[in-house]
Amino acid sequence: SSLKPRPLIAGNWKMNGLAESLDQARAVAAALDAKPAGARVAICPPATLLDRLSAALDGSSVLTGGQDCHVKTSGAHTGDIAAAMLIDAGASLVILGHSERREDHAETSALVAAKVETALTAGLEPIICVGESLAQREAGSALPVVTAQVRESLPAALAGQAFSVAYEPIWAIGTGRTATVADIEEMHAAIRAQLVELFGGHGATVPILYGGSVKPDNAAEILGAAEVGGALVGGASLKAADFLAIIAAA
Ligand code: PGA
Repeated sequence: SSLKPRPLIAGNWKMNGLAESLDQARAVAAALDAKPAGARVAICPPATLLDRLSAALDGSSVLTGGQDCHVKTSGAHTGDIAAAMLIDAGASLVILGHSERREDHAETSALVAAKVETALTAGLEPIICVGESLAQREAGSALPVVTAQVRESLPAALAGQAFSVAYEPIWAIGTGRTATVADIEEMHAAIRAQLVELFGGHGATVPILYGGSVKPDNAAEILGAAEVGGALVGGASLKAADFLAIIAAA
């Protein structure tokens, strides 16, 4: 239906990528120029590459995004990056609350929600990540853990704004292990219900991405699952051929 937004396929390069990686992005853009994708496509490189990547992709259909931003708009925060700086470097999106940020940098859902507000104010479209650990899944608490993360990481300021939620079970990230389609559909349905509770009709249209070892050989099955509105792709986004195969499956 016209209410359903295009799927979003976002590459998360994490702490990978040097100047030579720009060639992979250029190859993705050239292929999509020749054969436009049904999905929106974005690449979120390390901050050092963002400006050059945005320039390399200028005029193409591929969007760029940051992997984090600071909750404050500027000031004495050594090593951090403000939302306006991401925009200045050509970004239109930002990943917030990735499990690696939650773990490596002790980011709480409350901090993620505050960062989302900062990002929105700057004009960035947030991709807000949630996901349970293996211990939480084995304890049977995956659904309440993730729905609580959704409630606590999504501020009311998102009402009417463009954003997506990425469900990334931590045990599936970079492990080659993916959730089953049944597990994905169960979780995405729970996230959808939470989004509708929070944002009404708008919540029914917000794309819910899946992330965690999405590869060319499992992309069609995952992207075809109920309530899967795209993918957040780590390892497989680093090679143009793999990323293009995933984009083609959307
Ligand atoms: P992966 O990473 O595709 O390498 O599992 C996904 C992510 O963490 O966004």
